[in-house]
Amino acid sequence: MNFQNTLEFAKKLDAQDALAKYKNEFIFPKVNGKDVIYFTGNSLGLQPKVAKTYVDEIMTNWAELAVEGHFHGSKPWWDYQERFADPLSKVVGAKPSEVAVMNTLTVNLNLLMVSFYRPTKQRFKIICEEKAFPSDQYMIQNQVRHHGLNPEEAIVEVKRREGEHNFRMEDIIAKINEVGEELALVLIGGINYYTGQVLDMATITKAGHDVGAYVGWDLAHAAGNIKLELHNWGADFAAWCSYKYMNAGPGSASGIFIHEKHHNSNLPRFAGWWGHNKERRFLMEPTFDPVKGAEGWQISNLPILSLAPYLASVYMFDEVGMDALIEKRDKITSYLEFILKDIAAQVGGDFEIITPSEPEQRASQLSILLHGQGRELFNYLMKNGVIPDWREPNVIRLAPVPFYTSFEDMYHFGQILKQGLV
Ligand SMILES: *Cc1c(COP(=O)(O)O)cnc(C)c1O
Repeated sequence: MNFQNTLEFAKKLDAQDALAKYKNEFIFPKVNGKDVIYFTGNSLGLQPKVAKTYVDEIMTNWAELAVEGHFHGSKPWWDYQERFADPLSKVVGAKPSEVAVMNTLTVNLNLLMVSFYRPTKQRFKIICEEKAFPSDQYMIQNQVRHHGLNPEEAIVEVKRREGEHNFRMEDIIAKINEVGEELALVLIGGINYYTGQVLDMATITKAGHDVGAYVGWDLAHAAGNIKLELHNWGADFAAWCSYKYMNAGPGSASGIFIHEKHHNSNLPRFAGWWGHNKERRFLMEPTFDPVKGAEGWQISNLPILSLAPYLASVYMFDEVGMDALIEKRDKITSYLEFILKDIAAQVGGDFEIITPSEPEQRASQLSILLHGQGRELFNYLMKNGVIPDWREPNVIRLAPVPFYTSFEDMYHFGQILKQGLV
């Protein structure tokens, strides 16, 4: 498509946008009395207006029914989480029995490693990506130590090539084959949080399985952002947080995926009563009999107040569908890229987009490496009603989330940026 950097053209794109009406379904912070241009939905998604209704419903049930709310609330709490299985499984490309919501992301990845990182003398290595999200690094290092192993020997990082910003698929596959029979687990972020690079998860999953390893995915930046097909790819497990692209609010619950092929296995796991046989959960039996499916990994009763906005949001995803979101995502990300390049050409901005330009390797995020101005430009944008995200040493991340950003936003952002660069 031939884009133009004009208000009129941006408005025309909005008029053609089937999702345009959803902008009004979210609440925007204001700067100088005006809604901000929000680029940080990859860090904390905006609040859907309907979320409050879902939270209020719990508060009202609690006030009026107290303990009876567990079984007689308008959405009873004892099985509140089961409402997620169907709509959430569509977001991540799974069967309903393969997903559950519980805890928060790093907690869940730790729990999943209990099941899927079972090092032996022969097979004990983990492949992850260089400079993984810090929480994942701490987790992997300490899981390795927990098994009495040395992180320096057990953790193998896939590296970027000298002078390059992104991983090459052939390097990831080569590393998997090189570690081969010593490889116990591949655990990588499906989308790199820093650059926004989307990895070919199907191919990596297959490569891991070909050498006899388990393959799991941290989908923090992927859930609600890209087309996932966890079941068909055969991924062993995955987990994601709900407060980024999934708009469920700060610290809201994480989702997990456990492939059907493991539902009847004897994988060790940590357990609690919420993973126990549903019909018999309240009989207070002495022996753990796990639910067959991802719910069998639940431990405690669920944080219902934190699930409420997530449920509101999951229903919105179900209404819109990932295909429509992805179609708009690609168009608006391309438009933002066009505007950035056009502004740079007009005023000679000294920056580069380090997110891959290949459509299959990028999603909602463009990461911009600033060679000239750094933090001052970021501060200037913040003051002028744009909320981007800053990552040391000098990267600005922009996520034009398709649910609630408009093409007009992209145009106005370009004009504000231009003022900041001259
Ligand atoms: C955001 C993010 C996390 C956050 O973990 P929490 O346990 O939710 O605090 C973890 N991993 C990655 C890759 C992330 O982007």
